[in-house]
This record gives sequence, C-alpha cells and structure tokens, in this order.
Amino acid sequence: MTSFETFNYDVLVIGAGGAGLRAAIEASAAGVKVGLICKSLLGKAHTVMAEGGVAAALANVDDRDSWKVHFADTMRGGQYVNNWRMAELHAKEAPDRVRELEAWGAVFDRTKDGRILQRNFGGHRYPRLAHVGDRTGLELIRTLQDQGVHRGLDVHMEFTVVSLLVSDGRASGVIGYERERGRFKLFTAAAIVLATGGAGRAYRITSNSWEGTGDGHALAYRAGAELMDMEFIQFHPTGMIWPPSVQGILVTEGVRGEGGILLNREGRRFMFDDIPEPYRNQTADNEDEGWRYTQGDKSARRPPELLTRDHVARCIMREVKAGRGSPHGGVFLDIAWIKKRLSGAEAHIKRKLPSMYHQFKELGDIDITREPMEVGPTTHYIMGGIRVDADTQMSTVPGLFAAGECAAGINGANRLGGNSLSDLLVFGKRAGEFAAAFAKEHPAVAADAAQAQRAIDEALQPFARPAGSENPFTVQAALQDMMQSLVGIVRTESEMQQAVRELAALSARAARAGITGHREYNPGWHTAIDLRNLLAVSEAIARSALERKESRGGHFREDFPDKSPEYATFNIVTRRAADGTMDVRRVPLPPMPAELKQIIEDQKA
Ligand SMILES: Cc1cc2nc3c(=O)[nH]c(=O)nc-3n(C[C@H](O)[C@H](O)[C@H](O)COP(=O)(O)OP(=O)(O)OC[C@H]3O[C@@H](n4cnc5c(N)ncnc54)[C@H](O)[C@@H]3O)c2cc1C
Repeated sequence: MTSFETFNYDVLVIGAGGAGLRAAIEASAAGVKVGLICKSLLGKAHTVMAEGGVAAALANVDDRDSWKVHFADTMRGGQYVNNWRMAELHAKEAPDRVRELEAWGAVFDRTKDGRILQRNFGGHRYPRLAHVGDRTGLELIRTLQDQGVHRGLDVHMEFTVVSLLVSDGRASGVIGYERERGRFKLFTAAAIVLATGGAGRAYRITSNSWEGTGDGHALAYRAGAELMDMEFIQFHPTGMIWPPSVQGILVTEGVRGEGGILLNREGRRFMFDDIPEPYRNQTADNEDEGWRYTQGDKSARRPPELLTRDHVARCIMREVKAGRGSPHGGVFLDIAWIKKRLSGAEAHIKRKLPSMYHQFKELGDIDITREPMEVGPTTHYIMGGIRVDADTQMSTVPGLFAAGECAAGINGANRLGGNSLSDLLVFGKRAGEFAAAFAKEHPAVAADAAQAQRAIDEALQPFARPAGSENPFTVQAALQDMMQSLVGIVRTESEMQQAVRELAALSARAARAGITGHREYNPGWHTAIDLRNLLAVSEAIARSALERKESRGGHFREDFPDKSPEYATFNIVTRRAADGTMDVRRVPLPPMPAELKQIIEDQKA
C-alpha cells in the first residue's frame, strides 16, 4: 500500500488556464474551500498563448453589434449543431465578463475615446474581439491569477492528476503525482471542476502546448462521463510551416483581421474563388471592399480571408493539392502589402502584431513588415469534450463539472476565433458558481482508498516493464503521425477504419511501454501516462468521425463532401461501456425556442 498525503476541499478545480482560474475565483467568492491543481506552473497554462482576443458584443467599435448578432454568428459558425442554450448564455454574458476583467485590472487596447478596442475576426459580423495587441491570453491569465492569489486560492502546481475517483456514482476526489518528486497525493472534494484544456497533442502538427494531451477528456471518460462532438477538430488555417522545428506554431487570425491577405504561388488571392452560400451576402466581392472593411468602413463587407477557419483551411489545402502552394507546402500570408494603402504601415504592423513580428523574425528570419509569411493548417482546438448541462456545466457524473476547451457544446462543428476566451470566462464562472452550490448542498462522500491504490499501481506500471520494451516517445510519435494522416483535415471511411485498427495496435504497444530511472522529473514516465489519455481521446475522435457520414465544420469527409440535413439533428456522444469498449450513439439536439430561431433568420440577411 502506497502512503500518500491527503487534502480535502469543498471544490477542487483541475486546471489553471482561463476556465480553471475563473471557476476557482467564483467558487471561492461563494465562500467554500477551494483547491486548484495544475500540471505546469501557475500562469503558464496554455491560455497564456492566446493571441487575437476575446469575443464579446460590447459594440464599442460598431454599434450595430449585440448579443443577438453574436449568438447568430456562433450558431452559423458551428453549423447549427451547437448547444443553443450555451451559445445564448455565452453571447449574453460575455460583455459583462470582459468588463469585469477590466475592473480587475486587465489593460485592453483602447478606442480613441477610451473604451475597450475591438478587432475583426473570422466569422464575426462586426469588430468584436477585445484584445491586448496579440498577447490577449497573457493579460487574461495575469489578471485572473492576480485575482486568484488575492482571494487566497490554495494552488498545487506541477501536479498531474492521473485518475478521478467515483464513490456511490459521485465524483469524490482525484489521485495524482507531483512532477518534481513523483510523490502521490490524494484530493477529496464535494465537487470537482475539470478545466484541463485541449487535446491537440494527438496530432503531429499542432499549435497546442505540451499540456494539451486531453487529460480531462480521458479522466472524465474513464470515470463514466459522456464525451460529445469529438469528431469536430479545428485545423487553424495559418500555422507556421517553415523551418520544420517551428511547424504548427500559430499565426494569429489577427493578421487577417488587420488586412493580411492569402496568396498562392501565382500571387493570386484564391480566397475569392469559393465563397460558401450562407456567407455570400456578407462577404466582399472585390479587394477594395475587403480592405475598406478591415479599416472600419461600415458600408463594406468582410474580405474572404475572414471566412470561418474550417473553410479557409480547406481552401489552402485545395491550392496546395493543385500544385499552387508555396515552396514548403503551404500558401503565403501577406500583411506587408498594406504599405500600398497605409502610410506608416511598418510601425502599424509592429504595434498591432508585435508577437507575430517577433515570432517570424526570431524563428524564421522573416520580416513580416516587408515580406509574406508561409503558412499552412495546424491542429488548433477541439470542439468536442465533456458533455455538460448548459446552465450549470455539470457533466453526466454528479458532482463532476467541466468548463473551457475540455467541455463541449458551445462551438458545435466549428469554433469562431475569440469565442474560446469568452467561453472560459462565461462558463468558468458558471462552473465555479454551480460547483460551489453543489458542494454546499451535498457534503463530500468518502473517497475509496482501494480505488486510489489501483490508480497508483497502474500509473507505476511502466517502471516494472523490462528494459528494451516499447519506448513511450516512439509510441506517442507513431500515434501523432497516424492521427495526422488518417483522421486529419480530409477524412474517408477506409482510412478511419484503418485508424481504429492502428489505435488498437498502438494501445497494445503503449501497454508494453517501459521506462528507466526514478520518479523525479522523469519525462519518459510523464509521456507514458499522457499516452493513455491521448489514445482514449484519439479513439473517441476516430469513432465519432466514422459515425458522422457527412461534412460539417471542422469535420470534412471526402466520401461524404456535403452537409446532410439528417445529421443536423443530433450530436454524437461516446461513453465507456461496461465491458470497457467505446459506445457511440446519436443524441438528438434539444429543440430551439422560436425566438432564438427568429434571431438566426433575422441575421441571415
Ligand atoms: C497559439 C494559440 C492562440 C490562441 N488564441 C486565441 C484567441 O486569441 N482567442 C481565443 O478565444 N482563443 C484562442 N486560442 C484558444 C484558447 O487559447 C484555448 O482554447 C484556451 O486557452 C483553453 O483554455 P482552458 O482554460 O480550457 O485550458 P488551458 O489554458 O489549456 O489550461 C489547462 C490547464 O489544465 C491543466 N491540466 C491539464 N491536464 C492536467 C492534469 N492531468 N492534471 C493537472 N492539471 C492538468 C494544465 O496544467 C493547465 O493549467 C488560442 C490557442 C492557441 C494555441
């Protein structure tokens, strides 16, 4: 029997990105005892990388904006399989959450008359993204962290949760290890909030940080919760592609919001070639109109570079496949061209996009004020996640809540840029509030020590495997390559069937993965543990993608290239069956109230 230190909380939050911090602050404000756990250092969560901004209909730059337009944009972007209630709450509450952040000390860029400045982003009808240059995530995390520290949150850093404990059908605690020393600790709580972020590390090319291994998805799945919409992965159209060492690093959509254009190797603006019907009325049909839109001309329509991410990514792939790509297999993104239209363009670009300027200069020796960037799609965001109740964020396991990227619902088939940071604030707050209320109403149930011991034994297995057995890094790389090529941007039945077979083989290899050394800061061990999560998440992605025999948002099937009205009526949900296999089923979308339907119709013009 392993001895371990035990901590008891009313509400335990796992993850200190935007969603986790916001949840912890809210739970703490409700007067309950809150613990916060994170895999990295406080302030270093993936959210810190967010660049372009947080979407909220503040209407500071264009007074035609409102929650209704934001709601309709989000539903259309998600191709109408979003949870309408989440989209409604999000659009209504995001402005207050942003103003609250400002009151807590976030210093946003300002309009000339001193209000929060908002910028254009793909799929948003009006300039809507409150931002801090292209470092918005840093400001968001800094502000929430200050607020959390001020509230006296109990933070456990560099601690990896390996298992959720369930007693009498309720979430009762977690077990995990300190990354520094490898010592196990048990945490019990009356309510647990998962805010563990995304799963981009299931793919070879990704913008996600090392933390994005789908831990929360897998922890919840193994604890009996349902996952939803796992087939919907967002491949952001613009990641760096050269040099190879930086492949996948994000190039913010803010570049296109500031007037950046996409060109193929012939120098043609190919985005004008294919404008989807639902967006035709709102999209510029000439270059001049597109430019005027980016400069705030309210009579102009947005340029096609600001169509939704799924569409832009596929247009780039089309150019590359047709042999019209850039030398390293992408296309060109040009912001330098704006000097033809704007005096002082060089200083303007450096001021509006300081991180992008620095990133390309340092990593690629490219001066973006003078030359175009080479870009291509990168795995960026997972729309799928833990299935939650829209209002409370509670999962299908009582006492287990989820918020942020690891939860599903608000984004449907495709997320609009900027809607994640607002999601973290709106639903992080809600998760904290309702988790605290749950904890007050339901005293903690005792965590099961035998369950904790089994989780520890399993986590330690890689140390017991003979030398020369499988290497966890090799298995992880094979998984990432396989997901990239078989369940990537363009999918087909036969390739995904092959992916499911390969996943079984990779799981068998992962079960043989052995490591040497001791438990202190052992990256091989950390990788072996991450692998279990990545494999579970990858299987949910592949099986859900097989089930959706149509193309919608981030899920594109070459064998079913069109949207099917039948598939617009349900979400795909996966759950662990009693025999340990993955159960996949279709769950009808809840009916949308007439007044919300009307808002969507009104906004189609
Ligand atoms: C480069 C980049 C730029 C982006 N720009 C924008 C933008 O401008 N606007 C926008 O809206 N969105 C943007 N996004 C998306 C957005 O940043 C993310 O979706 C969002 O930050 C996720 O936040 P989160 O709180 O859900 O999780 P994260 O910020 O990913 O935090 C997860 C937390 O969970 C912890 N954790 C994970 N697993 C465990 C475990 N097993 N045990 C303990 N702790 C664990 C981690 O340590 C971390 O603290 C961007 C994404 C990238 C990659």
